[in-house]
Amino acid sequence: MAGARQTHMGDSHLFIISGPSGAGKGTLVSELVRRVPDVWVSVSATTRAPRPGEKEGIDYFFLTPAEFDVRVRHGEFLEHAMVHGNRYGTLRAPVERRLGGGVDVILEIDPQGAEQVHKLIDRSKLIFVKAPSTDELERRIRSRGAESDDQVRTRLKTAERELRVEGMYDFVVLNDDIKRATDELVDYIRSFSAEKTPE
Ligand code: 5GP
Repeated sequence: MAGARQTHMGDSHLFIISGPSGAGKGTLVSELVRRVPDVWVSVSATTRAPRPGEKEGIDYFFLTPAEFDVRVRHGEFLEHAMVHGNRYGTLRAPVERRLGGGVDVILEIDPQGAEQVHKLIDRSKLIFVKAPSTDELERRIRSRGAESDDQVRTRLKTAERELRVEGMYDFVVLNDDIKRATDELVDYIRSFSAEKTPE
């Protein structure tokens, strides 16, 4: 658990998008940003190696385990967790800056991190993205071709555990069809913008 400091949010909302690897969170978030360009998507830090085509500061901040540790010790993470043998964390300062400035923020993080942030920030909303079935999940993870057999098995094991926590989420999106799933997510997020007090 990272530090329990109060975060000033103004009128903005923090949407935590979580769910198993392969459920299509990444694609869904890209589509969401295309449709709702005024949300800001947090860039996480990780100790995992970049995949081909991934860019520093855009996909992730790629850190060594030692660099990650220093940031943990300095309290720079809003949350951090070990996921499939690598460390991942949400940097606190950029998120707080946006929330304080009235900008809605999206976190795309694993359920352990999601729970930490949800406890820390009252007005955060937990959104769970689900693949239609475990077979489909495995097909999607394998079709990326980025993981070895062992890594695929680890990801599927984690997914099984993650599916059991679905009940704690504020909103569940079934990602069987990207267009329909995006529509649902956009409607949900927009329903909160409507709550903002006019300037
Ligand atoms: P990937 O290695 O496929 O990019 O991500 C693996 C998992 O780590 C995904 O479930 C993703 O949501 C999660 N993840 C990415 N960034 C963070 C983060 O900052 N914190 C936590 N707790 N999980 C993260």
